[in-house]
Amino acid sequence: MIECVFTLDYEIYGNGAGTLKDLVYEPGERLRDIFRKWKARFVNFVELAEFEKIEECGTDRTIDLVKQQIRELSLDGFETAMHLHPQWYNAVYDRGRWQLDYSEYNLCTLPLPRIAQIVDRALSYLRHVTNRPGFTPLSFRAGNWLFQPTEAAANILAGKGVKIDSSVFKGGLQHNNTLDYRRALKNGYYWRFDSDVNQQVSSGRWIEVPIYTEMVPFWRMPTSKRLSLSNSFGAARTAKQRLNRALDFLRPRYPLKLDFCRMTLKELTSMVDRVIREDSAEPGLHRPLVAIGHTKDLSDPQTVDAFLAFLRSREITISTFQDIYPKLLRETECAQASNAARIPNPAK
Ligand SMILES: [Zn+2]
Repeated sequence: MIECVFTLDYEIYGNGAGTLKDLVYEPGERLRDIFRKWKARFVNFVELAEFEKIEECGTDRTIDLVKQQIRELSLDGFETAMHLHPQWYNAVYDRGRWQLDYSEYNLCTLPLPRIAQIVDRALSYLRHVTNRPGFTPLSFRAGNWLFQPTEAAANILAGKGVKIDSSVFKGGLQHNNTLDYRRALKNGYYWRFDSDVNQQVSSGRWIEVPIYTEMVPFWRMPTSKRLSLSNSFGAARTAKQRLNRALDFLRPRYPLKLDFCRMTLKELTSMVDRVIREDSAEPGLHRPLVAIGHTKDLSDPQTVDAFLAFLRSREITISTFQDIYPKLLRETECAQASNAARIPNPAK
């Protein structure tokens, strides 16, 4: 059984460039209209650090509309979830540009008290924006997908009540950020974990529902809609970073994310058709298929509309993590019980 979970990274560019109107608010409106038309909902991964800083420094007047949009989406059944780019918290706005603090790029590598401080700050801002004082999001996605090393950040977030992570893209590799999700390739469509997001642990407190990827040959990666590889290299700042980035690509196959803003309709439907064939061969398995998109990448809303029409024609339900969480919990508990039953009893 396949269910599609659309997740939206709701944010401007990672270097602080761009306006809220163009990169967040207007694409947010387009997507809201399309999803409402199909009576479907997405998971809104709101990047909390940038909105707080933009509001605090008064650098973009559209912040009020953005906050209103987050609230309205939340009231309308779109799941509000937590996304964090910590490099924003020490950011300085200077002569019309943001200078971000890249020493805090990866939440997971920061000292424990700093992680706790950042998580508290992000949660307080989320509660302020949603106007829901006791609100705790169910789901989390790390900035730049960096949920490694997992333990410290996972413990702090779990302590606050966050239960689902969707940072992993199986097969992912970034030498510059010591991200390595290749070990997750052997895992299923979702799994429990505790201190290492790659490692399935049946008694784990967290559930990982990764962004769906397909391992494809290198030549299938660049398309007219996707960011070109030269842009990826361009983002690297030093020669060592460029070399590391090159190393990420020196492999026979590369993880292609199910991305509803960057892929063409044909690419999206072909990828889902392959999962449909897999599902027909083994129909008993629950297959939550997490698609990713970014407000800043929405250049072609018609493709999203057509992709939702395609899913409807294939009778694939569109769900949020909130919708599927009880089922994931039950299913992972069943797996835990059957594993326990298989452990030989030493008393016999
Ligand atoms: Zn992001």
